[in-house]
Amino acid sequence: MELLGLEAHSSFSQKLIHGARFFPPHGESIEVRKKDPVALILNRMKLDQFLAKRAVAEGVELRTKTRASKFERRADEDSLTLADGSKVASKVVIDASGAGSRLPEQAGLQAPDWAQILPGLQYELVEMKEQGDLVELFFGSKRAPGFFAWSIPTGKNSARVGLASKKGNVKKFLDDLVKEQWPRSTIDATKSGSVLVSGPVARCWSPGFIMVGDAAGQVKQTTGGGIVIGGYCGKLGGIAAASAANHNGTEAEQFLRNYDTQWREKFGSDLRKMSLARKLFASLSDETLDRLFSVLRDNVVEIEAEGDMDFQGKIIMKMLKKRNVATLLPRVAADAVKAIFS
Ligand SMILES: Cc1cc2nc3c(=O)[nH]c(=O)nc-3n(C[C@H](O)[C@H](O)[C@H](O)COP(=O)(O)OP(=O)(O)OC[C@H]3O[C@@H](n4cnc5c(N)ncnc54)[C@H](O)[C@@H]3O)c2cc1C
Repeated sequence: MELLGLEAHSSFSQKLIHGARFFPPHGESIEVRKKDPVALILNRMKLDQFLAKRAVAEGVELRTKTRASKFERRADEDSLTLADGSKVASKVVIDASGAGSRLPEQAGLQAPDWAQILPGLQYELVEMKEQGDLVELFFGSKRAPGFFAWSIPTGKNSARVGLASKKGNVKKFLDDLVKEQWPRSTIDATKSGSVLVSGPVARCWSPGFIMVGDAAGQVKQTTGGGIVIGGYCGKLGGIAAASAANHNGTEAEQFLRNYDTQWREKFGSDLRKMSLARKLFASLSDETLDRLFSVLRDNVVEIEAEGDMDFQGKIIMKMLKKRNVATLLPRVAADAVKAIFS
């Protein structure tokens, strides 16, 4: 929240989290806990409403249920065509329309690799056993092949339980997990969506146009989480766009170019390491995952001391340098080859 320049307002804040409990495909779970909170669980819809109200109070004209369908660069003024056919003249367009956006291509940019979108499904569960202040993460080919399932407590007896997977039927996986772990719970709401693991695009700006958030692939490739990174980049992008709109030609372009440099300076190094971790571990067999978790079990103290949910690069590199992780690499490579042919 500090990064985003926000206070944890009661209208959207739900719970503070102190760590995670990992469930390998087989065997005992592993707990990683910190004294200080590591994450704030929030209600995304309420956060968006909170931010929208603030923007409107500052003079923003907000149009809901209005889709942008086409970006056109013109000699006099660029324009955005809306779904009803009307056009809006623009000095700068910020594409924050999430995974699957087609606008970047129209602005001469490359979109993220949409083939690397994983289908995700999430339930709001109520009447469930108390989970405390840890998120729970479930791994294995029977639970969420190529990704993981999660349970995020939102209150004393409620949680957001979901998963994404590389193959199979996400609804069946999720229903099976709920039956196994929380048989007495009730589903209060359902949300499906796209979890993006491709990483960021090579370039996020062109004259009169920038991309932020999922539209630009600004997500942690290890988890698909994009609220913190995308939120921060959105803030930088907004400042850059406002400055660019007050200038013309190459002067205006410089602000947009700087946005692309600034956000990469903040997150680029961590994202590269997360990308490496994702590539190494996306195709692991259950047996290799079990072995990997047993190595992590031996290093819980270090993970507790140095792990960071948003800036994961440092701990990823430390773990990869461990001798007993390195001995797993031939297995990792063999699993990757098997996955290509399966
Ligand atoms: C099931 C699930 C759980 C997740 N859990 C987490 C989590 O715990 N933590 C985390 O950090 N991330 C999580 N993520 C990822 C996170 O949701 C995304 O990274 C984040 O929402 C990206 O924000 P965004 O604003 O870029 O895009 P979005 O949140 O997708 O918002 C895009 C907005 O643009 C609108 N839009 C789309 N097309 C157009 C158009 N043509 N014209 C106008 N408007 C348009 C959409 O209606 C939407 O309101 C989860 C994703 C899923 C699917």
